[in-house]
Amino acid sequence: MARYTGATCRLCRREGMKLFLKGDRCFTDKCAFVRRSYAPGQHGAAKKKMSNYGTQLREKQKAKRIYGLLESQFRSTYERAEKLKGITGENLLKLLEMRLDNTVFRLGYGASRTEARQLVTHGHFLVNGKKLDIPSYKVTVNDVITVSEKSRASEKFKAFAENPKALPKWLSANVENFEGKVIAEPAREDIDVPVNETLIVELYSK
Ligand code: SF4
Repeated sequence: MARYTGATCRLCRREGMKLFLKGDRCFTDKCAFVRRSYAPGQHGAAKKKMSNYGTQLREKQKAKRIYGLLESQFRSTYERAEKLKGITGENLLKLLEMRLDNTVFRLGYGASRTEARQLVTHGHFLVNGKKLDIPSYKVTVNDVITVSEKSRASEKFKAFAENPKALPKWLSANVENFEGKVIAEPAREDIDVPVNETLIVELYSK
């Protein structure tokens, strides 16, 4: 499955903010953005005035990078969002948020979305009792996500269970049973990514 394989911290420096792509390291002083909070490249530190198009493009790139998608995957998610009822920008964020890899991350499995995605592709999860290893799978309300019996015994999963994360309103969890449930679709205010989705819609509507 295609994914970005370049230097991760470079993406945060390019977007001018911490995108928290590397898990625990992002909260330490080893974070590259803390040490060099300017864009990469020879002229990265120079101040540049951004055009409207540039602002819209950066917003799209930021969302794409936070959720770890390539352009074609992001674009097709946007096209699905456009076909749904409601506000396209909010639909887009909802579709991104309800990907299986992001849902697993929100349930506390993985220090970053990248790690959560890897856990999914390695077959550690069941959805409604069936093994599912497709990160882009869109969960729906009432879906139950469980850790496979075999994986529960691993030190990694025991550590996740011992350090549960705060859950967004649209998910519930039974930590002892390694189980999470989708109880609602996420509302815009439940999605805490620093993205202005209106700018992305403006960009793709040109
Ligand atoms: Fe971004 Fe994390 Fe790298 Fe810091 S350590 S630059 S927040 S990915």
